Amino acid sequence: MDLKSLIRTIPDYPKPGIMFRDVTTLLADAQGFKAAIARLAEPYRTEPIDLVAGIEARGFITAGAIADRLGCGFVPVRKKGKLPWKTIRQEYALEYGTDVLEMHEDSLARGRRVLIVDDLIATGGTAEAAAKLIRQLGGEIIGAAFLVDLPELGGAAKLEGLGIKVHALMKFEGH
Ligand code: AMP
Repeated sequence: MDLKSLIRTIPDYPKPGIMFRDVTTLLADAQGFKAAIARLAEPYRTEPIDLVAGIEARGFITAGAIADRLGCGFVPVRKKGKLPWKTIRQEYALEYGTDVLEMHEDSLARGRRVLIVDDLIATGGTAEAAAKLIRQLGGEIIGAAFLVDLPELGGAAKLEGLGIKVHALMKFEGH
């Protein structure tokens, strides 16, 4: 099944020069969604994972399904101010300015084996911030899984440099 053909590309969104890789068309396709989750989960079937950490917001969709398939728990990595309990926070750079990701300070016990999940990796800033939070809580990162990788932006290489093995189902050229 060709999952790449189910991704819709929207040129110049949200601003000129960006090719937005819209995964909603893949998620809406029953066969495509099923195949995507099976392929995302595949490398971890033989590796014990305790928790899947999904990054808000599109990461939640695949992370929940992967957690169900692997028979493990889910923890949210959220944008600032959304989590109700005590949090730890990590700032990260955007193209203009910064943003913040947060996790509940008790969302994983030390030594938990964690898989990071988001829809897409570009520069890797978002996933790196999530990785720092998980490591700060004492989690062991087993890998990071994405539907889409934009290799020219270097995010996958950045994560590998941090000792995090990246699994991405498809690659697109450009930004
Ligand atoms: P980054 O931190 O640069 O790796 O950016 C990854 C985050 O931004 C992910 O949560 C993506 O959903 C979103 N993102 C970045 N670039 C794109 C793009 N070209 N198309 C769709 N989403 C993108």
